[in-house]
Amino acid sequence: SLTAGIVGLPNVGKSTLFNAITQSQVEAANYPFATIQPNVGVVEVPDTRMDEIIKIAIPKKIIYTTFEFTDIAGLVKGASKGEGLGNQFLSHIRQVDAICHVVRCFDDADITHVEGSVDPIRDIEIINLELALADLQSMENRLTKIERKAQAKDKDAAAEYGVVKKIVDALKEGKPARSVDLDKEELEVAKGYQLLTSKPMIYIANMSEEEIADPSTNRHYNIVKEYATNENNDVIAICAKIEEELSSLDKEEKAVFLQDLGIKESGLDQVIRAAYHMLGLKTFFTVGVQECRAWTFQDGMTAPECAGVIHTDFQKGFIRAECFSYDDYMEYRSEAKLKEAGKLRLEGKEYIVKDGDILHFRFNV
Ligand code: GDP
Repeated sequence: SLTAGIVGLPNVGKSTLFNAITQSQVEAANYPFATIQPNVGVVEVPDTRMDEIIKIAIPKKIIYTTFEFTDIAGLVKGASKGEGLGNQFLSHIRQVDAICHVVRCFDDADITHVEGSVDPIRDIEIINLELALADLQSMENRLTKIERKAQAKDKDAAAEYGVVKKIVDALKEGKPARSVDLDKEELEVAKGYQLLTSKPMIYIANMSEEEIADPSTNRHYNIVKEYATNENNDVIAICAKIEEELSSLDKEEKAVFLQDLGIKESGLDQVIRAAYHMLGLKTFFTVGVQECRAWTFQDGMTAPECAGVIHTDFQKGFIRAECFSYDDYMEYRSEAKLKEAGKLRLEGKEYIVKDGDILHFRFNV
């Protein structure tokens, strides 16, 4: 499964946020596949559609789909030159699919800032520079390696050389690899390098309890927001301390607490949804009296591929999928009525599953 790594300078609130994640972690009984490592937290993906589905289906069991976060502590200035545990941390980032970049936006004289003051843009640029330098190093190595072949008119090497050159030029200008304009084939080549600056990224602005109800009252947040918008990235305001407290409460207590604070949705829930979204992940449902369950699939996947998310046998023996949309289910409220209205479809191997589809797979064993 895909995972988002949590990065940031020391003392910005990463551990506090990660504690909130591990304390909200799913129960292993329901998710036996989730082998939990100390630096990984598996959380449910909040989905209000599920709350509506179970009102109609009244299942015995409800299972949400999950999302995984990896804690990447210890990234410091100079990491690309081997400072701190430098390269080791960078290699951990290489293994994640998306980056959640925690930025300190809270003023608190008691908590030391490694750079001596609160300045989120400087912090962002320190981290982004380390990522870019690590990428530049590996891309320059690659360039040297294939240079001679490319000049000797080796077609593949020449094509690769072009891609690497574009990326090197961008990195030298201080731009991330994800900003480089590449066509489909070039993207395939670039993917193989697992570049740190090509991974999708969101900023998480960690601010105080007083400001979180209206983040725009935090001047640092406004600056980060503008910066992120220019980069085409999202920023989510959270108060890591509140998230830590919320994570020890049950669903009802949580709702009351949030209401008292004047917050619509917990910051962590927003982060989960944003990470899910930036990785192109979507949800389909299986609905029955025994169990209602949400499943994650990658945008663009076909019906047999989605069947494979449940079990490889479902994919191998796939015959067809009985399918209706969440919206139609809300309107007609029973399979019989959906059928009458012609809203229950039979879909074959080519069908591209849509977010919110409710599916029942037919397959040969
Ligand atoms: P990390 O080094 O990035 O993992 O940071 P920590 O999560 O350990 O947080 C560093 C310190 O800042 C701890 O003492 C936290 O309690 C504190 N902290 C975290 N979030 C907030 C916040 O929103 N407001 C304030 N005032 N302190 C916070």
